[in-house]
Amino acid sequence: MRIVVKVGTRTLTQGSDRLSRPRMIEIVRQVVLLHEHGHEMLLVSSGAIFAGRERTGLSARRKDIAFKQTMAAVGQVRLMGLYEQFFDLYDIPIAQALLTRDDLADRERYLNARNTLLSLLRLRAVSVINENDMVAVEEIRIGDNDNLSALVANLVDADLLIILTDQAGLFTADPRLDPSARLIPEVTVIDDHIYHLAGGRGSSLGTGGMVTKIQAAELTTRSGTDLIIAAGSEPDVLLRLIAGEVLGTRFPATVSHVESRKRWILADPPGGDICVDQGAARAVLEHGKSLLPVGITGVTGSFERGQTVRLLDPDSREMGRGVTNYNSTDLIAIQGHQSGEISTILGYEYGPTVIHRDDLVLV
Ligand code: GLU
Repeated sequence: MRIVVKVGTRTLTQGSDRLSRPRMIEIVRQVVLLHEHGHEMLLVSSGAIFAGRERTGLSARRKDIAFKQTMAAVGQVRLMGLYEQFFDLYDIPIAQALLTRDDLADRERYLNARNTLLSLLRLRAVSVINENDMVAVEEIRIGDNDNLSALVANLVDADLLIILTDQAGLFTADPRLDPSARLIPEVTVIDDHIYHLAGGRGSSLGTGGMVTKIQAAELTTRSGTDLIIAAGSEPDVLLRLIAGEVLGTRFPATVSHVESRKRWILADPPGGDICVDQGAARAVLEHGKSLLPVGITGVTGSFERGQTVRLLDPDSREMGRGVTNYNSTDLIAIQGHQSGEISTILGYEYGPTVIHRDDLVLV
């Protein structure tokens, strides 16, 4: 399984005024075990701003954005230093990925982020992801790592997102105020009632609240990823969840990855057309192959890498739509050529395929 684990600041500090090294080691150990069982693991970790305060000894009372940016810049290094140390105990390489909203909203940057994270998975490295708080001013912030982790899960087509927090899951009432509150083991429909339980759609509980976790679940369940909210303090929580134990609150996906990706591709207005020869048409239609430059006979329209294009057969009939790895200018240069020649012709390459079969919907 491809699994994204999100840990919040309060989970990392165990409510203390320092990042809890034992807690971090504990999380790393579980991530490593799952990694060693063959799962593909990504970690979204908060705690940069907190670690900056810890490092500089500056007061938690200052909350303005410039101060937070500065603390994040200091703290991200400390946070990664700790993760590097702990993962290194198990000889597992880690990578740092700092993202902003723009990286995920812009087509080309989205694709680049996706490709890099996927290639890190192939390398069997664990990516440790956070928002790039140092440059993320209010307008471009995702703002909370619950939503960030859902966007990351979507970016890499994860099977499961586990959000570890300081509560056991979603309750029928606030367990801190109401002793009769019960844990809800599964939520299949996210409606106003669920938001109400989480504190209200419009509530400004801010980062770390339940509302942002429900927002995350809305996104993941629509894009084919299951989400589980569970307590980071629960012993072996990740291992037990993956072993199938019922813990926390689960939000099962309502569609499959393929369906969600297909819907997204079909909803996107195409930026142009790619015409292919008989051989390529057959490879794509009958053998489920990706589209290579060698089979392309013509390109119309002006489009960017990452845009949706129509795929036309030799009789100009639409065969399907897909997301192109090369822009229209590049395609005109490489059409009819072998994939091995791409880097010689262009001086760079984005891989051997023009449209990967996972990014292709046949009509
Ligand atoms: N990115 C912030 C940090 O690392 C945390 C955001 C959040 O708590 O959701 O400090």
